[in-house]
Amino acid sequence: LCVEHPLGEGQTLSLSRAQAHYLFGVMRLGAGDGIAVFNGRDGEWRASVAQAGKRGGTLTCEIQTAPQRDPPDLWLIFAPVKKARTDFIVEKATEMGAARIVPVQTDFTNSERIRQDRLQAHAVEAAEQCGGTFVPEVTALHKLDTLLADWPADRRLMFCDEALAGGACALPSGGRGQPWAVLIGPEGGFSPPERARLSALPFAHPVALGPRILRADTAAVAALTLWQTACGD
Ligand code: SAM
Repeated sequence: LCVEHPLGEGQTLSLSRAQAHYLFGVMRLGAGDGIAVFNGRDGEWRASVAQAGKRGGTLTCEIQTAPQRDPPDLWLIFAPVKKARTDFIVEKATEMGAARIVPVQTDFTNSERIRQDRLQAHAVEAAEQCGGTFVPEVTALHKLDTLLADWPADRRLMFCDEALAGGACALPSGGRGQPWAVLIGPEGGFSPPERARLSALPFAHPVALGPRILRADTAAVAALTLWQTACGD
C-alpha cells in the first residue's frame, strides 16, 4: 500500500476512506493482519492493522522489509492517446521503472487534455501491484516544443521514430548510468517539421523499434524494454 506518512518503527498510519475500503472491504483484512507499505522514500515496511473501520482506520508500522530502491533516471515522454491506452502506458511505464512520466502535446496529438490526478492514481496502483518502493511523478501536459527548448543539458533522448521502422533496434552505446528520456509519438506519428527538429537535436538518438509500425502503447513498452536492456539496472 502506498502511503504519504513517514515510515518508522511504531509509526501510526491513518488510512483514507478509499484505502480503508480497499483493505477492509476488498482485501478483507482485519485487526492484526499484516500488509506491506511504502511511501516512495523510506523503503518497504511491514505494518499491521490497528483499527479497521468503513470510513478509515489505522495501521502500525513494524519493521523495514526492503530498503528504498529508486529507479534509474529515465523519463517516458509520450503523446496521450485514447483514455484506456493512455492508462495502459502510465501503468506499464511505472512497472518498467520510469522515474517520471511526461505527457506531451505534439502536432498530431489525438487528445489535448489529460486528467493528471487520474493518471497519477494509476501510477500509484501500478507501483503497489508490482512491489516497487517508488511512484513516478506524472506531470501536467507539456507542449513538445517547450519541453525541447528547456531540455536539461545532460539528458539524452531516445527518439522513437516510426519513419525508421525496418531499421535494426539499437541504442547508442555508453548510455548506462546517464539521465535519459524515451519519446513516443501519437497515433498520427510525428509531423515532418517535428521529425526534422528532433533529428537535428544533438542530444537525440533516433531509434527504430523493429520492422513494423507499432501502436503507441505497444511502442512505449517496447522502447522501455529496449532501454532497460541497454541502459537499465
Ligand atoms: N501513424 C504513424 C504511421 O503510420 O507512420 C504511426 C505512429 S505509431 C502508431 C505511434 C508512435 O509509436 C510513433 O510516433 C513512434 O514514436 C512509435 N513507433 C511505432 N512503431 C515504431 C517503430 N517501428 N520504430 C520506432 N518507433 C515506432
